[in-house]
Amino acid sequence: MKSKEFLKTLLLQVGALRYANRSSKVIYYHDLHSKKRYTDMSTPIDLFKKHIDIAKKMGYRFVSDISSEESELEVTFDDGFRGLYENFDLFIENKIKIRLFMVSDFIGKEGYLKTSELEEMLKSGLLEIGSHGKSHNNFDQLSEDELKAELKESKTVLEEITQKPIDTLCFPRGRFNDMAIKIAQDIGYKKLYSCLPGPYYENFKANLINRSLVQHATTKQFKAILLGGDRIYHKRYLAMHYNMDGRR
Ligand SMILES: [Zn+2]
Repeated sequence: MKSKEFLKTLLLQVGALRYANRSSKVIYYHDLHSKKRYTDMSTPIDLFKKHIDIAKKMGYRFVSDISSEESELEVTFDDGFRGLYENFDLFIENKIKIRLFMVSDFIGKEGYLKTSELEEMLKSGLLEIGSHGKSHNNFDQLSEDELKAELKESKTVLEEITQKPIDTLCFPRGRFNDMAIKIAQDIGYKKLYSCLPGPYYENFKANLINRSLVQHATTKQFKAILLGGDRIYHKRYLAMHYNMDGRR
């Protein structure tokens, strides 16, 4: 396990040397925990604080919508676990805006955020909400009708809570195909967040946004990722997440 982590860090550092840049990026997590942990994908609050410090020291600014080629960082969370609410003071203290991709069917389920909690966080002005589908099914395995239902129904539920148009989407498990892109755009999603690592402005398809997974990144790995090191994995993730032939 240790040697695997060592190799991972080394690869990221090689990537960081190769791509060395301060390109604006979207990073993603699943949850935060200080006491209770709701998912294996959760990040300890102390590690998250270290990430914030590193980003600031490297000259990154936290923004809710990237508008500059360099030095901007957008922080996103997927699924909607409750740890986000329990640790939300951290975002208030640091004035960090975040975007949460919520699965609409998960709202109020055990371990997930309730409507009242989402509303309370929205009042802070620090939370933006996007759709992560209705049921978290892989979009590349759904029929056209099923996809439309996922995208429309989650949009309606989330708009009811936010009282704002929901026009950002994140593909469950990062999986997508051309049909999912087209239907999402037709329904009104303007930005489609992937799980493909890379800079914000270098997209494989229009409106498809790269994101870097950092939830378990050590301080060394996080630094390397902010320098663009995880781009070394772009092709591998593309092969895993993009279903070129349509349905599987
Ligand atoms: Zn998810």
